[in-house]
Amino acid sequence: MLAKGDKYVILSFDTESDIGSWTQNYSSIDTAMPKILDLLKQKDVKATFVWEGMAALYNPGMLKRAFAEGHECGCHTLKHESVGQPGYFIPGDRPILPEEVAGRLTKNAQIVSSVTGEKPVSFRAPRLWGDKVVIRELERQGFLTDSSYPMTSERDELFPYHPSADDIAKRGELRLLEIPVAGIYGDMLERVDDRLRAFGLETTGDIRHIGQWPILRLYGGELFASFFDPLIDKQMADKGFSVICTYQHPWEFVDMPGIIRCPEGVTYLRRTLFENCGDYALQALAEFIDAFKSRGFKFITMEKLRELWEE
Ligand SMILES: [Zn+2]
Repeated sequence: MLAKGDKYVILSFDTESDIGSWTQNYSSIDTAMPKILDLLKQKDVKATFVWEGMAALYNPGMLKRAFAEGHECGCHTLKHESVGQPGYFIPGDRPILPEEVAGRLTKNAQIVSSVTGEKPVSFRAPRLWGDKVVIRELERQGFLTDSSYPMTSERDELFPYHPSADDIAKRGELRLLEIPVAGIYGDMLERVDDRLRAFGLETTGDIRHIGQWPILRLYGGELFASFFDPLIDKQMADKGFSVICTYQHPWEFVDMPGIIRCPEGVTYLRRTLFENCGDYALQALAEFIDAFKSRGFKFITMEKLRELWEE
């Protein structure tokens, strides 16, 4: 268990095709990862990168470098397919069948371990669409952590927990540790609402599927960090320690297009997906790291957090 006064932050990166499911290009891995890895080295911070199998297959040199520099390298499905319950509709990305999940996760882990020489133990589902099928399979394959559950209200689990095999949102008997993504909490939604709305993202109603990751680019590192303060205060008041898990994507740290054209059509993306991608995002990440250091947080990987949690 963690001790009173402990403050840990997990910086995680979903390492995948450019703009997630919206392209099958992997050029940002080779262009963005060096910038991110250089920054993490400069700040003396270890992070968790969850790798799409295809991203690892096409960019093994970057996976090798991240692993060699002491970062955890986990899994993020084979090719960013939806593996759990979908939260909304994405053209061209219907969830795979439940019986396909085992094979996809196996292949994902094989590709990663063939480069690092080490079995990956951490996972996050694309778009945070995990479910009981996924966590049961992760458990069966010996994964130790999952971070697919988004914290979106004060009623949610605010700390890591062992989930039930019947419901990822409920506490249970799995040895897998669910590390909730620190999402919308307290007045965070009201504070971020206007700018997200200005960029066309609807935030009313069911906001479970809205991740915190665009907020770094839309508000900068200092403000992004300050959005977590109510959650940190609540965690410290409840248990005397704090665990915050944030996530970004390497492609956010190089310029991304707002329009994708192909012979069969044209896709216009929300500004939340491409606004301030590139150097602004990198500067914001540097500010965020400094802001959390100044709050007394230590940076830790998902795997290391589980070790501490189980002690
Ligand atoms: Zn993803």
